[in-house]
Amino acid sequence: MANTCPPGQVGESRARPRVSQRIWRSALIVDLVRRRRYRAKKMLSVPQSEAGANSSARIASPTPPTPLRAYYDALFAAYGPQHWWPGRSAFEVIVGAILTQNTSWNNVESAIRNLRREKVLTPRAMESVSLARLARLIRSSGYFRQKAKKLKCFVHFLRAEYGGSLTRMFRTPTAALREALLSVHGIGPETADSILLYAGAHPVFVVDAYTRRLLDRHELAMPAQSYEEIRRLFEESLPSDAPLYNEFHALIVRTGKEYCHTRNPGCSECPLHSFLPARDSG
Ligand code: SF4
Repeated sequence: MANTCPPGQVGESRARPRVSQRIWRSALIVDLVRRRRYRAKKMLSVPQSEAGANSSARIASPTPPTPLRAYYDALFAAYGPQHWWPGRSAFEVIVGAILTQNTSWNNVESAIRNLRREKVLTPRAMESVSLARLARLIRSSGYFRQKAKKLKCFVHFLRAEYGGSLTRMFRTPTAALREALLSVHGIGPETADSILLYAGAHPVFVVDAYTRRLLDRHELAMPAQSYEEIRRLFEESLPSDAPLYNEFHALIVRTGKEYCHTRNPGCSECPLHSFLPARDSG
């Protein structure tokens, strides 16, 4: 793997774990996932009839119903398609995925408008623009100096590894591309998975704070569970289907914004109310 940052700009690429560490972590994850699946099975065996009336809108699947599938059906019946991710091109989606770290989407939209107006919203243009100018253009997204470096690192990586072609990049098998993206400065699991799913239509589930809160409150996962465990919970419970993952994550975000607030969640009005564990559903 080539150096993922332009020389002299960022010297803080994430160190990859040693092989022995990776094996140890994998074993731990498998063990935790087994325990969690056992617990989830016990907690939830929700009949499909509770999953909402709009069954014709469900994505067909040959796999048997799972609790998470029923959650999806209930949310889709309540909200319909969310049309994610808002972006005019794959590159714009990638830029949005990086800029939305630690900020609201409204702030990102303004930064993307600036980049489009100044014709910097292509990999080649973003490589050419100075770091200082790029930072100025994305100022509204917060942490703009760090994010400008992250964008520079991504376009450098794209050119070094794939000749600047997103088509070539997204042709890479999912696991290998995920690993490669995680080696780029500023791209963590949530951003990598957003890029894979929303820009490249690779079937990986995106886990964010809304997802964690919902699973925690429904006792499907514990706060201490890792990103990878929760991602695998979804990917092992659902068919490997990028449109399904795309829609489900968008529906979870909508639920989080409308009902599942950090404080005072609006459970009684929420489409997932019937799925709450008994002690919380009153
Ligand atoms: S608002 Fe309540 S019912 Fe809705 S997802 Fe959150 S915890 Fe569940």
